[in-house]
Amino acid sequence: MPGFEVFGDEEKKEVLEVFDTGVLFRYEFGPQRGDVWKVRQFEEAFASYAGAGYGQAVTSGTAALKVALAALGVGAGDEVITQGFTFVATWEAVFDVGAVPVFTEVDETLNMDPADLEKKITDKTAAIIPVHMLGAQARIGEITKIAARHNIPVIEDTAQAAGARLGGRHLGTFGTCGTFSFDSVKTMTTGEGGMIITDDEKLWRAMSEYHDHGHDHAVNPGGRGGEGRSFIGFNYRMMELQGAIGLAQLAKLDDMIARQKENKAQLKAAAAKISGVTFREILDEEGDSATFLAFMLPDRVQAAKVNEVLRDNGAGAINFGENTWHFYPRWEHLLNGSTLCRGGWPFSAHGKRRVVYDPDALPQSADIMNRTLVYQVPVKLGEEQKKTMLEALARAAAL
Ligand SMILES: *Cc1c(COP(=O)(O)O)cnc(C)c1O
Repeated sequence: MPGFEVFGDEEKKEVLEVFDTGVLFRYEFGPQRGDVWKVRQFEEAFASYAGAGYGQAVTSGTAALKVALAALGVGAGDEVITQGFTFVATWEAVFDVGAVPVFTEVDETLNMDPADLEKKITDKTAAIIPVHMLGAQARIGEITKIAARHNIPVIEDTAQAAGARLGGRHLGTFGTCGTFSFDSVKTMTTGEGGMIITDDEKLWRAMSEYHDHGHDHAVNPGGRGGEGRSFIGFNYRMMELQGAIGLAQLAKLDDMIARQKENKAQLKAAAAKISGVTFREILDEEGDSATFLAFMLPDRVQAAKVNEVLRDNGAGAINFGENTWHFYPRWEHLLNGSTLCRGGWPFSAHGKRRVVYDPDALPQSADIMNRTLVYQVPVKLGEEQKKTMLEALARAAAL
């Protein structure tokens, strides 16, 4: 999965071009930087690769979500719907703009269940964030249709699915906007970093200004210091060094996915021999970024038995039902309302609890997650590692 597996001379060359100018900042320094604008180039290249009109680079995938929500005007008093199987960042961003996250069930795509989404929409729903978890598609067609009927914007959290497609179209381009992460474990990485893509020029301008303290980026005689402001912002600016790495990594993305697909196919063929096994529903195999292989057993007890054999043979799988970073009932800080804030924000406001989360609220998701086993698929699957994994799967198949 991670792009750091293929770091090479390409990344070094890009980074050195930045050091040669001495300009690490994405704005200003015109004469000194020559024609080197790495972050701007990376934005244009990433948007063009994905087939979107505009790209906005930011400091992280979490910042991408925050900036997208802020640009859409989401804040206190609003609800934002996402799914109960995701990384904590998705709902941290929702709380950070002052809104309250609402969680849907996932179905066998391991992503948002559209039927449950429909049930959770209220007058307060200001945005919907489906997540393309583990490299593959949410039911984005159905989700955007429901959202359009209620006139609610959709932010696709595409942090784990850069380069993945549905029917040939890139994930992240179906909704109002799509957000990406380039953190150290993502398919393409800039160490830390994120991106938002959209076709909406007005929305992109709002993001661009918000992420840079409200700078309107209008050309004026006073330069950057003479720029105006239309609203308050924050600082989520990406560095030139990150933009440089991003350019080199983006050029390798399709190749990384192709190699993952080969590796995934071999692991999947071996897993298919396990008695009672089924696989995660992938809406478009061709468009899968193949960063993960997810397979299901008929129940939690059998999943545990299979995983015990895999573990004993040096190739234990992840059970996200037990993983504390990605699944709703395991987020004790969310369930307990743990916060540093004296007033209890964001769980409480004005001395009153705004929201309480019931650990048993997502039974359908719990059933699925508890019997699902997951392997991360590396770009480079070494012979030794492959042998271990295939042998462990064969042992599980002999159960
Ligand atoms: C990694 C991730 C993020 C956050 O990205 P960072 O760059 O680490 O802030 C958001 N959503 C999902 C689903 C992720 O996997």
